[in-house]
Amino acid sequence: MAKIAVTDGMAPEAVAVLEKAGHEVVQGFIETSDLLAGALNGFDAIIVRSATKLTADVIAASPSLQVIGRAGVGVDNIDLKSAGEAGIMVVNAPRASTQSVVELTIGHLLASLRHVPRADRGLRQGKWEKKALKGTELSGKSLGLIGFGRIAQGVASVAKVLGMDIHTYDPYLPAKVAKSQGAFLHKKVDTLFKNCTHISIHCNLTKETHHLVNARRLAMMPGKAGGIECGNHIVNCARGGIIDEDALLSALEDGTIASAALDVFEVEPVPADHPLLHHENFHGTPHIGAATLEAQRRVGLDIASAVITVLDGKNPETLVNGEFL
Ligand code: NAD
Repeated sequence: MAKIAVTDGMAPEAVAVLEKAGHEVVQGFIETSDLLAGALNGFDAIIVRSATKLTADVIAASPSLQVIGRAGVGVDNIDLKSAGEAGIMVVNAPRASTQSVVELTIGHLLASLRHVPRADRGLRQGKWEKKALKGTELSGKSLGLIGFGRIAQGVASVAKVLGMDIHTYDPYLPAKVAKSQGAFLHKKVDTLFKNCTHISIHCNLTKETHHLVNARRLAMMPGKAGGIECGNHIVNCARGGIIDEDALLSALEDGTIASAALDVFEVEPVPADHPLLHHENFHGTPHIGAATLEAQRRVGLDIASAVITVLDGKNPETLVNGEFL
């Protein structure tokens, strides 16, 4: 029987799976000062979301740990190298939230094109702005997907049903994957911008992708498709920092970009006085891509299963720090 700390919450079904496997689960947030003082001593595993920070010092103070489970995708709150060097496997649950993020992305695209947030704000002020709120269809437009992993491929399959042509830029993607999904794979990100009126971001945040969406590239977008002046539209449900927010604001202000919708921001929580939030053609959500009942349930079950696999001495499918072990 292993002792497992669950510090950032977990679906009750997933806790039940851990207990049914014979493990003791201790739930409750642990302050960093307590983690540093050895609060994880005697624990074999810890399952976190993003609030608990497992730094090199915390890992050094937790010598009994065998496995760290990240209930979600991003592992920026875990020092993967220190964990690996200490022989601790880090596992995550990368597929659990895919469908939820796909649906939010499509929701943001549709909301932008039909001015749903602006229309709602107007209604609340007694405005009936039928003429000012003329939108455009997604059908017949080119959707550029930056990154073509799990979420982007899900977005592509829905967008195709809505009549969009799919373009992608993903330097790490085998060409046959794009081909099999009916997506045009660009070798250079600039040509994606030149060919697409609608762009949605689905890559990881890395040094390479930081501010990949910048003023120069936004200015390349064509603004019309099939004779329709549909304007240019940007959605980001991946990570803050991939878009240069100052450049995006300027592009909204001078009309280069007709709409922008973000679920993720360079600084989170985004401050209420951030100028983007006050632009008429912007709308956003507070990083809720994975915040559905279904995703949270799946994330818990997936991470419980991965942690049990490691505790059973088997190889987990979703190991993220293999290079440091
Ligand atoms: P994934 O690993 O399946 O796909 C990411 C893709 O990005 C990969 O195909 C990779 O080759 C590509 N990529 C890497 N570097 C690139 C570059 N320089 N240019 C273009 N493409 C590049 O990941 P996923 O599950 O599809 O997740 C995609 C993004 O969504 C991640 O950033 C993830 O953190 C984020 N996400 C956000 C939420 C949310 O709550 N909004 C929830 C889950 C995931």
